[in-house]
Amino acid sequence: MANNGAAAEEYPDSETQPFGFARTRIMTSLKSLRSLRRTALDLLLPPVCLGCQARIIDHDALCPSCWRQITFIRPPLCDRLGIPLAVDTGGVMLSAAAVADPPDYDRARAVARFDGLMRVLIHGFKFHDSHNVRRLFGRWLAVAGEELLAEADLLVPVPLARWRLLARRFNQAQILAAEVGRRAGKPVNPFALVRRRSTAHQVGLTRAQRLKNVTGAFRVPANELSNVSGKAIVLVDDVITSGATASAAAIALKRAGARRVDVLALAIVSEPYS
Ligand SMILES: [Zn+2]
Repeated sequence: MANNGAAAEEYPDSETQPFGFARTRIMTSLKSLRSLRRTALDLLLPPVCLGCQARIIDHDALCPSCWRQITFIRPPLCDRLGIPLAVDTGGVMLSAAAVADPPDYDRARAVARFDGLMRVLIHGFKFHDSHNVRRLFGRWLAVAGEELLAEADLLVPVPLARWRLLARRFNQAQILAAEVGRRAGKPVNPFALVRRRSTAHQVGLTRAQRLKNVTGAFRVPANELSNVSGKAIVLVDDVITSGATASAAAIALKRAGARRVDVLALAIVSEPYS
């Protein structure tokens, strides 16, 4: 319990953190059935940091040291690409990259940059689904995507190629969509988009080449057209790399009549202040 105290003192304002990683010990008072259950669970499985396994106050969270290793994406943001901007000029802002080469989706938002511990956590989640990481990611996505989710009619996970699904046994984007859909109270449709073919490796290609590589990779099945047409859709994926995959998925959904296609991901590969 000594560790818990130290963590709480180091981050006294953890309650007000937008991604709140910890709650104060007062919250664990025996005032409700929920806290009773929680206390029983804590005795059986003491909460540990999902990054380093150190003892912490709450389940499904990170210790302060691991927390500091996540580069959370915070405003001011480019409204289209969701990347951080150097200065806040007020209103809707666009990065030079979004103006020069606009994506086919409307807006992207991501929790953090794809580096350091975030990269490790996502890699672990891809191959070993864990309920704890799932809940942490769901919470983060709900905050990062608040604006997109408020306007969404439907959440659609980016599908995996079939061979990849067989090798991995689960689609992590679908798990993330289910988690964030439950939190935001929005329906999830994992059948709205299918992957026609897997795409070749994207490394070393220009953005135009990457988009060509993935164009036609997705389609909306005929029996799903009425579920997509006229809808504001939030595509859910784990990582936005070049944006080419999300753009190709957005093209397929828009061809099927989607009114708006936004993208919500755990991480984005981007330079700061693009
Ligand atoms: Zn840790």
